[in-house]
Amino acid sequence: MPDTATLSATAGLTAEHFDVLIVGAGISGVGGAYHLTKQLPGTSFVVLESQESFGGTWLTHRYPGIRSDSDLYTFGYRFKPWTSAPIATAAEILAYMGEVIEENDLGRHIRYGHRISSARWSSAENRWTIEATRADTGQDVRFTANFLWMCQGYYRHSEGYTPEWAGMESFKGRIVHPQTWPEDLEYAGKKVVVIGSGATAATLVPAIADKCGHVTLLQRSPTFFRAARNADDLADTLRRLQIDENWIHEIVRRKILHDQSVFTRRAFEEPEVVAKELLGGVRAHLGPDYDMDTHFTPTYRPWRQRIAFVPDGDLFKGIRAGHASVVTDEIERFTETGIHLKSGKDLEADIIVTATGFNLNVLGDIEFAIDGKPLDFADTVTYRGMMFTGVPNMVWVFGYFRASWTLRADLVADFVCRLLTHMKERQAKKVAVALRPEDKDMPLLPWIDPDNFNPGYLMRGMHLLPKRGDKPEWQHTQDYWTEKDVWPAIDLDDRTFVYG
Ligand SMILES: Cc1cc2nc3c(=O)[nH]c(=O)nc-3n(C[C@H](O)[C@H](O)[C@H](O)COP(=O)(O)OP(=O)(O)OC[C@H]3O[C@@H](n4cnc5c(N)ncnc54)[C@H](O)[C@@H]3O)c2cc1C
Repeated sequence: MPDTATLSATAGLTAEHFDVLIVGAGISGVGGAYHLTKQLPGTSFVVLESQESFGGTWLTHRYPGIRSDSDLYTFGYRFKPWTSAPIATAAEILAYMGEVIEENDLGRHIRYGHRISSARWSSAENRWTIEATRADTGQDVRFTANFLWMCQGYYRHSEGYTPEWAGMESFKGRIVHPQTWPEDLEYAGKKVVVIGSGATAATLVPAIADKCGHVTLLQRSPTFFRAARNADDLADTLRRLQIDENWIHEIVRRKILHDQSVFTRRAFEEPEVVAKELLGGVRAHLGPDYDMDTHFTPTYRPWRQRIAFVPDGDLFKGIRAGHASVVTDEIERFTETGIHLKSGKDLEADIIVTATGFNLNVLGDIEFAIDGKPLDFADTVTYRGMMFTGVPNMVWVFGYFRASWTLRADLVADFVCRLLTHMKERQAKKVAVALRPEDKDMPLLPWIDPDNFNPGYLMRGMHLLPKRGDKPEWQHTQDYWTEKDVWPAIDLDDRTFVYG
């Protein structure tokens, strides 16, 4: 336990006190713990994690082939070099995170098997009271903290999203969601249908294609894919020249970020040209006779949804080899033996995998209250996608959609450390963001502009999310390249910050 932790008795439960409480030991929470120890040594803090180990997303997802679709030079932390191929398996990411924990002695700050159920702010005490349940004993435990750092991700880890289709109960085979992949699932020689066309489906299909009898990717509409080698030529060259790994990490990060910024700008400025390039890349793998129009030509602009990366074209190799196929159609109903499609065709299946996405979970399914009043985050306005009007001493990490999540997790960490330092200097016990007089008539809009980015889990959960305004400070801009320059210069005495 950190030296500064104190004990106090509250309503029957003993509460342990920390300066900062971090929710979640995924890539964001572990990063937050690292930055706190380096940037604010001496700060007492605890990380509470409901699962039995660290990793978050990379621990939860155990389906065959699970891997990143971002490169690890930018999905990795800025402070710890990535030394392998850019696209990594979940196991490799977990090993990398494990090293960060080990090398920086972060393990002593993390409490696993602690599911947080409530967080209550008291203005009289200027602190949060957090209640959690221990998985090992079932015991309720209580913590108090001056500051809450929400690193709980954006979806419910216990179960994925599966739509209701007619006749599901009549299907005699097994229905599986990739998020809760059963360890005992035997798919060798079986007919498998994977419903979905996103990164998960694109990862799973090639991973099982060789072993299954046949795997069919069933999609309602096509997705953009980017196929390329799982290698970075610059990194490989620098490594051959025996350049220090710290340098390689920084140089390759900068190069990848530069390339991505050019690509993103082009996707907005010349979407038709970019779409043509992406389709050309897929065509090169599938050959001239493949029906690209039906199966691989989306109707939306590139970047309106995340573009799935296909390392070494593995998805397309399976299709060419005849182990995998794509069907673009709609589900009419499930039958005893598979799926009946709206076109009238039937798909036979022994196993149906619903790679249909996530259940958005706003702030970790934790009940929040401010001075006894239940908090509905949909009533708040977000400050740069990380703080919320009327919610004191709390920062939320929500990463980028079009760039690696961790880039933003690192930036938020810098912001938190700067804010905590500033509060100390001002001897403030409380900080909250508030709309300024000039923001009074600002239109309040949904969290994300659906014209800009519209994945299903966000569309389904938009009503639960905070509002955004029409000025950069009241938006989650999704723009790393601006935020990396603007955030370090944020004036913490600007009138958006109200101290107490
Ligand atoms: C299959 C998959 C692949 C992805 N690939 C990429 C990629 O390549 N690049 C990219 O940028 N993004 C990717 N993402 C998005 C990804 O979720 C984030 O990039 C990142 O891993 C999120 O990290 P996090 O720590 O913020 O949240 P999470 O990984 O979701 O971790 C949050 C942690 O908080 C814990 N927690 C939540 N609520 C509570 C509670 N009430 N009490 C206690 N603990 C709690 C959870 O158990 C979990 O361990 C992917 C997502 C998925 C599902």
